Amino acid sequence: MTIKLYNTATRQKEVLTPIKPGEVSMYVCGPTVYDRAHIGNARAVLVFDMLFRLLRQEYGAESVRYVRNFTDVDDKINARAAETGREISDITAETTQWFLDDMAAIGALEPTDMPRATAYIPQMIAMIEELIEKGHAYAAEGHALFRVRSYEEYGKLSGRSVDDMIAGARVEVAPFKEDPMDFVLWKPSDENTPGWDSPWGRGRPGWHIECSAMANDLLGSEFDIHGGGNDLTFPHHENEIAQSKCCGHSFARIWMHNEMLQVEGKKMSKSLGNFFTVRDLLDQGVSGEVIRFVMLSTHYRKPMDWTEKKRQEAENTLRKWYRVTEGLDAGEDVSADALDVMKDDLNTAGAIAACHKLATEQNFRKLKKTMQFLGLLIEHTPSWALQNEVDLSSFETLLFEARQAAMQNKDFSEVDRLKAGLLDAGVSVMMSKDGVSLEPKPEFDAAKLEALK
Ligand code: AMP
Ligand code: ZN
Repeated sequence: MTIKLYNTATRQKEVLTPIKPGEVSMYVCGPTVYDRAHIGNARAVLVFDMLFRLLRQEYGAESVRYVRNFTDVDDKINARAAETGREISDITAETTQWFLDDMAAIGALEPTDMPRATAYIPQMIAMIEELIEKGHAYAAEGHALFRVRSYEEYGKLSGRSVDDMIAGARVEVAPFKEDPMDFVLWKPSDENTPGWDSPWGRGRPGWHIECSAMANDLLGSEFDIHGGGNDLTFPHHENEIAQSKCCGHSFARIWMHNEMLQVEGKKMSKSLGNFFTVRDLLDQGVSGEVIRFVMLSTHYRKPMDWTEKKRQEAENTLRKWYRVTEGLDAGEDVSADALDVMKDDLNTAGAIAACHKLATEQNFRKLKKTMQFLGLLIEHTPSWALQNEVDLSSFETLLFEARQAAMQNKDFSEVDRLKAGLLDAGVSVMMSKDGVSLEPKPEFDAAKLEALK
């Protein structure tokens, strides 16, 4: 049962050797709950959902502990409350439920533990006190700050030196900081901002200490895997490591980071008008399963591009695979090819390719079983998969009539033109003496078909 994973910390693939034999522990940074999850967030969730499923398959469902937090104290949440006049607790409760609903809609299993940061304030305070005691942090003007220069290995995960970071980063310079690189562990709250009593006065935690404290409380001082998007490598994960190691924790062994998602080749942003949430897609009628299929089709360490074309192809493929597996019992075993590539650094794209191969070989029961392992083809054929994506019947008539004419005048050029155009658009063409039958293939492209008319 060898699973290899790429470890950002060592920059190589490593065999996963659980600290406790036969049991795996994993921590993944979860959402800050003030708004709907966008499709980039969904990518990160699905990457670690697939890892969770693979680990459960290999080690048994009871032997995998997967912690994903909710950050429910954060200045973005405070800002949202100030803008809207709503209670913070209403905003975080509503957004947490949205997140759970939207992630369920794309087939993500719930982690075994979903701690909320606000339930771990005493643990955070205890860690900060220990850091101060050991000289790795200091209190100043109601703040507690981590003394970055006191941790020699700072920057090792992301491969930067402290001096490079100072040159490149947007570090907050503040008069009470000993060094601009020092980061906040605790900060003061005014009467309109959520706060807890602490040795440094009433205040709230910084973001990084939340994960260090929750991981330690739930998984212990050393655990197997820590994950998140690669935008978190620096500073968030670098800071988590510094805090935890300086408290004497060994912390995570393997660090996994997913690459970012873009939309039609561009960074997703509200100003470009290409920003959308999972809920936006679901509301437009895109099935959660289609979203999942598109996401799994790219390896997690490659940038992924969300495109309308991929959405359409995924829909066509799923529609076809629902049709061919309808009423069949899933086979006994997941395809060995799919499992092998999944165990080699979570190659979900390779697993989808293995499914295409099974479909070509008409091994439909194994296809169903393997797809179900990937969290797909789990329902009875859903209604969207029953409809025909495109009405090809007018082209069937066109081609049939062209052929009738060609048999008369012995000029097949129009038939050839139509056939070539259909094939180019990703339509399979079946002609017999009784008629013409057309079917969209996974690579079907409706735009090319339009041009043919
Ligand atoms: P945030 O709410 O921005 O802290 O992000 C929550 C999770 O989503 C983190 O693991 C991020 O790394 C990840 N994430 C944010 N944006 C993207 C993106 N465009 N593509 C992939 N993952 C992302
Ligand atoms: Zn974190």
